[in-house]
Amino acid sequence: MNELLYNKKVMCPVCNREIEVTRVKTKACKVLSRDTDMCVHYENINVLFYDVWVCGNCGYAALQDKFEGLFTRDIKAIKDNIGISWVKRSFLGERDADKAIEAFKLALLTLKVRNAKSSEVAKVCLRIAWLYRFKKSPGEIKYLKFALDSYNHAYQNERFPLDKLDEITCMYIIAELFRRVGIFDEAIVWFSRIVASPEARSKPSLIDMARDQYQLAKDQLALADSN
Ligand SMILES: [Zn+2]
Repeated sequence: MNELLYNKKVMCPVCNREIEVTRVKTKACKVLSRDTDMCVHYENINVLFYDVWVCGNCGYAALQDKFEGLFTRDIKAIKDNIGISWVKRSFLGERDADKAIEAFKLALLTLKVRNAKSSEVAKVCLRIAWLYRFKKSPGEIKYLKFALDSYNHAYQNERFPLDKLDEITCMYIIAELFRRVGIFDEAIVWFSRIVASPEARSKPSLIDMARDQYQLAKDQLALADSN
């Protein structure tokens, strides 16, 4: 196996069996750059590829930091809807973008079966969009739209913080996703809300990014109108 990876034993909370998952060694997680929607590019190895753990026995999948936190009703829903038709297969070892997309889509399926919150769905959809970006595939825009719809719903209906996501950063992501899917007027409204928000002052780097992206969205809108 790739020397930057290692396997670890964990208990699957759905089928109660000990399984192995593959993790990236901490020292291998070196950030190369960040896109304007927070997508991180790494040196050497793509850490995102390994962020979803899948149980090869029962098909349960989740982001690694959420893998163990399940309610009893979730376990039953996953067994009844995924486990029953699951074809056993392994997600252990090195992954490429396609294998990572397969794992993340299983995590999305688990969230749907659990009737999970929009913020959880949004987080996984945004990461699937990034995986398609690494592949330079048009699937990116489709999943950016799914992520946008779910973040918008979460913004209206959930209490902040959404897991680790604060309100201002969530507003920024919504604004930037509007821009990336080509809805420039909405992007401009959301970016200007961030710049005008008193709470945003505690996050000067985010205000700077919002200002830059506001200008970019304005330029893009002007260009779209002139065509
Ligand atoms: Zn399992």
